[in-house]
Amino acid sequence: MADYKITLLKGDGIGPEIVNQAVKVLDKTGEKFGFSIEYDEALLGGCAIDATGVPLPDETVEKCKASDSVILGAVGGPKWDTLPGNLRPEAGLLGIRGALGLFANLRPSVIFGPLKSASPIKDEIIGGNLDIMIVRELTGGIYFGERGRKEVGGHPAAWDTEMYTVPEIERIAKVAFDLAMKRNKKLTNVDKANVLESSRLWRETVIKVSKEYPEVELNHLYVDNCAMQLVRNPGQFDVIVTSNIFGDILSDEASMIAGSIGMLASASLSDGKLGLYEPIHGSAPDIAGLGIANPLATILSVAMMLRYSLDQPKAAQAIETAVAKVLETYRTPDIFEEGMKKVGCEEMGDLVCKEL
Ligand code: NAD
Repeated sequence: MADYKITLLKGDGIGPEIVNQAVKVLDKTGEKFGFSIEYDEALLGGCAIDATGVPLPDETVEKCKASDSVILGAVGGPKWDTLPGNLRPEAGLLGIRGALGLFANLRPSVIFGPLKSASPIKDEIIGGNLDIMIVRELTGGIYFGERGRKEVGGHPAAWDTEMYTVPEIERIAKVAFDLAMKRNKKLTNVDKANVLESSRLWRETVIKVSKEYPEVELNHLYVDNCAMQLVRNPGQFDVIVTSNIFGDILSDEASMIAGSIGMLASASLSDGKLGLYEPIHGSAPDIAGLGIANPLATILSVAMMLRYSLDQPKAAQAIETAVAKVLETYRTPDIFEEGMKKVGCEEMGDLVCKEL
C-alpha cells in the first residue's frame, strides 16, 4: 500500500500539462526520500461540466475527502463563459473549498534570487530576498455574509455584511501563529479596527490567541497602511494574517511584487491534514496545448503539500532548492530573460527532476 493517497484535479486549459509535471516531480521526490504515492483523478470545472453537466460532481468531493491531499491545476475557459453563474467552472472551485472545509488560504510571495528582475519593485526596496506568507481566512466574512437589495429614500440600494465569530478567528489565528513559529516568529495582523466592529473583535481575539505563542512577535496594521507598506518596504513582513476580503486583495498585491504569475503556489487547509494545493494562476487558455506553460507554480504547490499536509519538510525543501537551481540557467517563455536557455513545460519538469 502506498504511503499517501493524492487526488488530482487537473481541470481545464493548461491544468493537465502542469499537473503532469508536478506529479513527475512528486514521484521523483518520493523515490529520493523513501515514500510512495497512489493517485486518483477526478473532474472539476469545465471538463466536469462537459462530462456530467455540473462543475463539481459528488464523486469528486468523495474522492477528495478520501485522500490525504488534493492537487488542483486550474479551471475555466471561454467555452464555459456564457453559462449561468452556478454552472460555471469557478462555481466548482468555491464548492470544493466549502465541501472540504478549507478555511485557511496560504499564499507565499517569494522571489527566487535569479528572478529578482521580474519584480516591478526596485531592487534597493526589495533588499535581499522577499519571502512573505499571507494567511487569509477563506470561508467566512463578507463573501459569505447576509446580503440583499432594498430601497432607501426612494433609491435602489444594496448591502453586504461582514461577520466573524470568535471560533472562526481563533482557528485562523492559530494557523498563522503556528506558521510564524516555523518561520521567523513574526506575525502581522491586518484589520480595520479603527472603523469596523468586526475588526475590533478580530484584533481582540488575535491578541488573546497570541498569549499561547509568547515567542511570536505580533504587530497590527490597518489594511490601508498594509497595502502601502507592502510596496514601500515588503521585507518587513514574515507572516500576515487577515480576513477573507482583505486577504483576497493583499495576496494579489503581494503576488505582483514577486512579479511572475507562473511561479506562485498556494495552499488551502482544513482542520485536519487534508489540504488543496494549486498554483495561483488560471487555466491560461491562450497557451493551452502549446507545451509552453510554466509548471513551477504547481511544482512549488507540491512542495507546500509535502510541508503542510504530508509532514515531509526535507522533501519540500529539496524541491524548492532544485527549482531555484534550475532557474539559474533555464526559463519557460513567461519568465525568459536574455542569456538563459528557453525550455517548454515538460522539459522544465524534467530539469527539476534531474536536479533532485
Ligand atoms: P490566467 O492566470 O489563466 O492567465 C493570465 C495570463 O498569464 C495569460 O496570458 C496566461 O497565458 C499567463 N499565464 C498564466 N499561468 C501561466 C503559466 N503557468 N505559464 C505561463 N503563462 C501563464 O488568468 P485569466 O486569463 O484571467 O483566466 C483564464 C481562465 O482561468 C478564466 O476562465 C478564469 O476564470 C480562470 N481562472 C481560474 C483560476 C483557478 O482555477 N484557480 C484562477 C484564475 C482564473
